[in-house]
Amino acid sequence: MAEIEVRKLRKVFGEFIAVRESSFTIHDGEFFVMLGPSGCGKTTTLRMIAGLELPTEGEILLDGEDVTFKRASQRDIAFMFQLFALYPHMNVRQNISFPLRCQGTPRAEIKSRVEETASLLRIDHLLDQPVSRLAGGDRQRVALGRAIVRRPKAFLMDEPLGALDAEFRELMTEELRGLHNRMGATTLYVTHDQLEAMSMADRIMVMNHGVIEQLATPQEIYDRPATMFVADFIGSPSMSMLHFEGAVEPGQNSVPMNGSRIPVPTLREGRANGELVLGVRPEHVTLSDASDFRGEIFGMEYLGTTQVLTIQTHHGTIKARVPSDNHVAVGETVGLELRSERLVVFEGEKGRALKSDLYLTPDRSGQNRREGAHG
Ligand code: ATP
Repeated sequence: MAEIEVRKLRKVFGEFIAVRESSFTIHDGEFFVMLGPSGCGKTTTLRMIAGLELPTEGEILLDGEDVTFKRASQRDIAFMFQLFALYPHMNVRQNISFPLRCQGTPRAEIKSRVEETASLLRIDHLLDQPVSRLAGGDRQRVALGRAIVRRPKAFLMDEPLGALDAEFRELMTEELRGLHNRMGATTLYVTHDQLEAMSMADRIMVMNHGVIEQLATPQEIYDRPATMFVADFIGSPSMSMLHFEGAVEPGQNSVPMNGSRIPVPTLREGRANGELVLGVRPEHVTLSDASDFRGEIFGMEYLGTTQVLTIQTHHGTIKARVPSDNHVAVGETVGLELRSERLVVFEGEKGRALKSDLYLTPDRSGQNRREGAHG
């Protein structure tokens, strides 16, 4: 399997810059997800790695070898796009073995590799069935088998589940991740769906307008967003943004809001006068009569065990995810308590998170990713 390294990659179409200057490494065996809204440059980046598009500038290395100018067929990478057609007149075995037959692989080897692939995908009992008789999930598995059987160095997938309905999509998400765990193949997966990214990725690279906003583990991206864009893009509902004016200094551990002060993780950097933003996730807001920070409820969304309240404050709208048995009503004014140690302070203009103690806490892997969210 392989490590993919991308150095200062840039792609310009006429006047339009699709990818600005991307540098990142996909580790050997990693499930790496590129996530971002439509048009942010994900597909263009993937196509350059696949060898389907030439970069305007930059280099692509596959296991240390410069493949920037190599054709797709010379890169030993398999790619899958939105649902891949099967050959309807062939059975499962013939479909899976097709790439090997094209390469002229000896018959005995084809047989063993097809059977090994089918067993990995748990479709060995279907090998002699015509694909036209298969259910949707099994067809998908056959298509995957056709990509896997070549044993490429890496897999590139561009929204492979995009055309599926929600239920089937969830099933295939689990299945793709399970398959990855069994194979350990380096995988680059492109999606605009944050839930898909969060549930599958070892690391996520969030892109916007051709720029990498953040590259980190799903937990880090959720807990310690590097930018307001990431904070807004990840999470449902996304992080609420409360605006305030003023200056902040290194060592400061509260910010002014509603005439009082809200404690925040100790800031490690300051900002001279300007627009500042306090970011808070809905699950880090509770209702508290004792709090001076107050707002009026103007929306309620019942979600079973919890409800999401939309509350208007003097600093902007805030969402609170509270238990459903909190009996409140639209129009009511409530006190709000914010979970201080989880708050993020952003500089409003550039939308970058200011370094604070929040960004020094270890993540799930136990490593101290001091610079993770900002690097
Ligand atoms: P989507 O999910 O919609 O495909 P994306 O993030 O994958 O979005 P890209 O397909 O990489 O985005 O496209 C990035 C930008 O580059 C888009 O604005 C697109 O219109 C533009 N672009 C892509 N390919 C070309 C091309 N061949 N010629 C001109 N512009 C292009």
